Amino acid sequence: MSIKVAFLGLGHMGGPMAANLVKAGYEVLAFDPVPAAQEQARTDGATVVDTGAAAAAEAEIVITMLPNGRIVLDAYPDLLAAAKPGTLFIDCSTIDVGDAKQAAELAVAAGHRALDAPVSGGVAGAAAGTLTFMVGGEAEDFAAAQPLLDVMGGKVVHCGGAGVGQAAKVCNNMMLGISMIGLSEAIVLGEKLGLTHEKFFDVVSTASGQCWALTTYCPVPGPVPTSPANNDYRPGFATALMTKDLGLAANALRDNGVDGQIGMLAAELYSRFNQAEADKDFSAIVTDIRKRSGEETL
Ligand code: NAD
Repeated sequence: MSIKVAFLGLGHMGGPMAANLVKAGYEVLAFDPVPAAQEQARTDGATVVDTGAAAAAEAEIVITMLPNGRIVLDAYPDLLAAAKPGTLFIDCSTIDVGDAKQAAELAVAAGHRALDAPVSGGVAGAAAGTLTFMVGGEAEDFAAAQPLLDVMGGKVVHCGGAGVGQAAKVCNNMMLGISMIGLSEAIVLGEKLGLTHEKFFDVVSTASGQCWALTTYCPVPGPVPTSPANNDYRPGFATALMTKDLGLAANALRDNGVDGQIGMLAAELYSRFNQAEADKDFSAIVTDIRKRSGEETL
């Protein structure tokens, strides 16, 4: 008998993740309030139900892939009440570490099991089933979830107890935001000093300034043909999402008394850029730095 999985939140990420579970033979009970998302899930072979609770009531595993922590915490009481005792709840949304711990506590208090399992790899990774899962929770619950996470992911790491999956995600994305800003400032400085992008890349990609933001995701057109800079900064990873993740990082820095001055500043800079360019790829911050440096264009 196939395992029944409730899947709530069938957006850019959740839709293709649920489709991959169907392809792998899981029976997916899907819910999303948006009709277009429901239609796509039906086409992908999921059984679409009318409420999240109706999906949770039938399932052994409940996956949520929702926009933010408030929505997850609002959805949980109904889901937990409807689910059979011992149901495994896996929240794949990117949310505050504190919210993730609270969601896990609520699930355990209601007689269930819980993991936080945020992802990186974006929409392309969700479609290809190559996401990286960063998982927090008990070892035996991780072991139970692993076969299913392996279907949707290329790399699945048990990071620690409840909330520690979100911790890994927030730390990684804070570093990415900071390094993209640092790299972009260096690129604009190089421009002012007469260093071409090609020579900048040639030197720095193998020198001590080397980083993923440069070698895989170069924020200026040319050196890395697949980076969003070559496609008018169409995302990729939208500025709105980076701004959200840096907001979570700023909360985590504050809540834990970490003197993360650069992380806080990165959150502020992206928040400001987001007001004008939320839909652009986050690497477009280089164009903002250039503008603030008195150079409208190259
Ligand atoms: P999205 O907005 O495309 O999808 C979220 C879906 O949740 C929507 O379809 C919405 O209708 C649905 N929803 C809202 N409330 C619901 C409820 N109560 N029950 C069921 N469904 C509900 O967002 P997304 O891009 O798919 O991102 C989902 C999560 O994944 C976010 O937390 C995001 O930060 C994270 N994430 C996104 C990316 C990315 O590249 N898009 C990458 C990594 C992580």
